[in-house]
Amino acid sequence: MSEAKVTILGCGSAKPTKTTSPSGQLVELCDKSFLVDCGEGVVLTMQKLGIHTSRLYNIFISHLHGDHCFGLIGLLTTLGMLKRTQPMHIYAQPDLQKLLQPLLDYHANDRLYDIIFHPINPRKHAVIFEDRTVSVETIPLKHGVPTCGFLFKETHRVQREDGSFDYETRKRYAYCSDTQYSEKIVPIIEGVDTLYHESTFLNEHGARSKEVKHSTAAEAAKIASLAHVGKLILGHYSARVEDHSLFLKEAKPIFDNTVLAEENLVFEI
Ligand SMILES: [Zn+2]
Ligand SMILES: [Zn+2]
Repeated sequence: MSEAKVTILGCGSAKPTKTTSPSGQLVELCDKSFLVDCGEGVVLTMQKLGIHTSRLYNIFISHLHGDHCFGLIGLLTTLGMLKRTQPMHIYAQPDLQKLLQPLLDYHANDRLYDIIFHPINPRKHAVIFEDRTVSVETIPLKHGVPTCGFLFKETHRVQREDGSFDYETRKRYAYCSDTQYSEKIVPIIEGVDTLYHESTFLNEHGARSKEVKHSTAAEAAKIASLAHVGKLILGHYSARVEDHSLFLKEAKPIFDNTVLAEENLVFEI
């Protein structure tokens, strides 16, 4: 079985820059792929990295700000051109279908595959996906619009000495973007192997960060520390900060095992 990993397809915030596209990442667990958020540019990055979409069946959208969903219509029409026939499941709040359906009817009506929308309530912590080896839970976040993160759990069936079977959770990965500092998420993400937490701003932008309901690198590190996670990945950088090492500099004294997301990087979970 392949390793649990996350590939960064985009880690910028709303405004694309020369080096960062808006949010998107591919989570791989138990030989399955899950797309989390789909900002503009995600389909292009997937093509550049040679990521095949034939094993992708599930897409999770954290919220409806454009930097997290403007890439969807491009991806879904591309899949139509590739003559995809397997269904695609999209987990997002109900408004996404309302917004996307007219575009799909206009641009992708001749597609050969079904798109199945699964409405989720971003304000409620709940299991929204479950199969034999992977489950996904929502993580309610604090942002300007209804937003949730996602907690991925890898579960394996193990045989006990007496021959009976039990289930054991192995890797856990939490995606928390976009959000302002919120300790409410700590019990949900306690002890995860890897946490991706948005880090839009630096300490010097603290007031602006609160105003637009985002987090600083130091706040992301504080959450990682309180939740005793294994590793913290920072991302969702503001376009106003060109040198991403500044985020690391502010986070590391609070949580040492912190790394920077950059487009095309792959992290073990
Ligand atoms: Zn965003
Ligand atoms: Zn947002």
